Amino acid sequence: MRKMIRKVGFIGLGTMGQWMAANLIKAGFQLIVHDVASEAVAKTVEAGAAAADSPAEVGRQSDVVILMLPNTPDVQSVLFSNDGLIHTPPAKRLIVDMSTISPVAVRQFSADLAAKKIAFLDAPVSGGPTGARDASLTIMVGGDSDAFEMARPVLNALGTSVTHVGNAGAGQTLKLCNQLICGVNIQAICEALALARASGIDLSLLRQVLLGGSAVSWMLDKLGPAMIDRDPAAGFRIDLMLKDLKLVQELAFELSVPLPATALVTTQYLDARAHGEGSNGNQALFTVYDRSSNQAGPPKRASE
Ligand code: NAD
Repeated sequence: MRKMIRKVGFIGLGTMGQWMAANLIKAGFQLIVHDVASEAVAKTVEAGAAAADSPAEVGRQSDVVILMLPNTPDVQSVLFSNDGLIHTPPAKRLIVDMSTISPVAVRQFSADLAAKKIAFLDAPVSGGPTGARDASLTIMVGGDSDAFEMARPVLNALGTSVTHVGNAGAGQTLKLCNQLICGVNIQAICEALALARASGIDLSLLRQVLLGGSAVSWMLDKLGPAMIDRDPAAGFRIDLMLKDLKLVQELAFELSVPLPATALVTTQYLDARAHGEGSNGNQALFTVYDRSSNQAGPPKRASE
């Protein structure tokens, strides 16, 4: 089965996808890529991929196709529009969506594709651009187990933790749980930094000390320096986190599960977006605390 996948289609060559595509090339797969942004395509072609003009063309030339797109409507369009993959599926009739999108939509996409004998896996990731660059992503996969086994060699080239977690939509549900924890954790770090700053404590020292105690977290470790330096450069944009927090709350509403902490942190992200900071990195949520505690100068924008 492993040797059967040689040609991998890849659609969505943004912050994450460009690294993931490069890692698939390094792992020896033949890549056929597409993105609506021509600069993104040019960069990956330089790394050894072949370009295709449309999702349908990617499907026509590939054994399996991977998607790494911003949101649910983007995935829907690449699958079902006039030049979508449903019309020219890849040879192994397998599509793996690694974007973070709605688990409810995933179940519908999966059923619509299954009616055409096309397997669809939801395989969202955690680990950010560094995880994408280092092929050390955590990948949580929902869908048919035979399809998972077929996709496994491709996914192994992208992550160090690749787990089949259940039926269609289960991967996205786990990813939304991950995002809930990340969002609430970032807010907790912002609050600790705001309090420490007002108390005159050195924030870098605080981070260093807390990394050795029970408040240690991936967010404090990886995003803490950018929070303290007020560097807004985006790895994961505030707009993308808002998209995920919305998906978390839609699922919670459907299942009647109250999530008060998620609701609270969502208001902070909305505050950031209302101040024009949606393209800033996630870590720049601290700017909301700058404003409310009147502790720092005007917020920087990632574009400045
Ligand atoms: P991005 O916006 O940087 O990249 C998305 C790419 O998709 C862009 O190059 C865009 O031009 C392309 N695109 C959009 N619509 C398209 C279409 N219809 N056809 C072809 N190409 C299209 O986003 P990203 O940061 O790489 O994130 C991608 C997904 O991964 C999102 O769902 C995000 O939530 C998730 N994710 C991101 C991170 C992160 O740290 N950035 C981490 C984990 C998961």
